[in-house]
Amino acid sequence: MAKNVKRSWAEPYKMKMVELLKMTNRPQRLKAIKEAGYNTFLLRSEDVYIDLLTDSGTSAMSDRQWAGMMMGDEAYAGSRNFYHLEKVIQNSYGYKYVIPTHQGRGAENILSKAIIKNGDIVPGNMYFTTTRLHQELAGAKFVDVIIDEAHDPTNEHPFKGNVDLGKLDQVVKQYGAKRIPYVCIATSVNMAGGQPISMQNLKEVRAYTAKRGIRIIHDMTRVAENAFFIQQREKEFNKKSVREIVKEICSYTDGATMSAKKDALVNIGGFMATNEWSVFEEARNLVVIYEGLHTYGGLAGRDMEAMAIGIEESLSDDHISARIGQVEYLGHKMMDFGIPIVRPIGGHGIFVDAKAFLPHLKQDQFPAQTLAAEVYLDSGVRTMERGVVSAGRKSDGKNYYPKLELVRFTIPRRVYTQAHMDVIAESIYSVYLKRNKIKGLKMVYEPKYLRFFQARFEQLK
Ligand SMILES: *Cc1c(COP(=O)(O)O)cnc(C)c1O
Repeated sequence: MAKNVKRSWAEPYKMKMVELLKMTNRPQRLKAIKEAGYNTFLLRSEDVYIDLLTDSGTSAMSDRQWAGMMMGDEAYAGSRNFYHLEKVIQNSYGYKYVIPTHQGRGAENILSKAIIKNGDIVPGNMYFTTTRLHQELAGAKFVDVIIDEAHDPTNEHPFKGNVDLGKLDQVVKQYGAKRIPYVCIATSVNMAGGQPISMQNLKEVRAYTAKRGIRIIHDMTRVAENAFFIQQREKEFNKKSVREIVKEICSYTDGATMSAKKDALVNIGGFMATNEWSVFEEARNLVVIYEGLHTYGGLAGRDMEAMAIGIEESLSDDHISARIGQVEYLGHKMMDFGIPIVRPIGGHGIFVDAKAFLPHLKQDQFPAQTLAAEVYLDSGVRTMERGVVSAGRKSDGKNYYPKLELVRFTIPRRVYTQAHMDVIAESIYSVYLKRNKIKGLKMVYEPKYLRFFQARFEQLK
């Protein structure tokens, strides 16, 4: 019998330093959220108890990474930390040429400028905010080719990050392969709720694009989390390690952009990688203009060292199963309270369906933005909007109206405890109990680019 006792996920580490938090009361939080224009991005972090704004750059580094920071070689050119990082990326991911950048969008800028021509089309498995904007600024139009299931928060498809090959084929037929510099494939699709792409689907996309001479560029920001889902959900990968699966994923792509602030467990950093010399040559030249010399790309030597070590740690099965175990723990707790969340539970956070939570609000009244503000007011838990505000406007000035109107509870890696997860679930449940009384918001200030970062709102009467 003992053999059948369930073993909980648990962290493969212990704590040796803690950061003290300020506890706030409701009047303090009301003042803070008003001053922030009901935008959680504009709150001061000091006024936040549990910070689930993002999993970007918010990981706790290990003692090994901190030790690595002390080994920074801060030479302007040819830092030994760069060569270490380059070797780790080549060995772990299999890409040939590497260019470090200050973070993911730096890599997106360089890559987009290097291979997109005016009038090009970039199909991809759902947009990401900065990725699409860099594609557009370089002259391309992004076309979403993700499967329809990804837009349905209740659909239990195990791989909602998959590409719909029929949609892709339509795009290729309509515009011609020559106008498609690459297909953009994200692993663990952020905007779909951290949903993975299957290895089988990726192989099919590879076969399709290879025949037509179209590249695949991999947004590998959360590749380790995607690999874990492949291990859990695709039978033939049950016995393979996350490390092996990650390498296989990368092998079906021609290049990548990476925000190392996510999976790779650092507070700042990113890179671009490619297997093509000509792309590398162009990008290596461009990086000098936008980021810095190609052996540091806007990073200190110590940052590159922390990234090299973080990449290795991110590929450990024990790490990733505890990481996703914690996210699933929170998701199940919320489901037990009846909270409508995106299913299946994704890799880096829980996405609450604000349309279902606040059905009396129209999308123009910003249900997700409203809900994020209410959760903060209730408990000091900071989350963020992923809905109509994040989606922004089209080039003709009209709003995008995304099907998904979500509040993202993103879990930083190696930072919070199980009791924190309990408080988060209890808080959203408190808000749920009084959801009928919640009023929407109106936008009173809208910046031109990526408006969700700096927009301001007021409560509707
Ligand atoms: C965060 C993110 C980026 C951009 O990276 P930054 O490091 O924030 O510039 C790109 N793609 C995805 C999927 C991301 O989650």
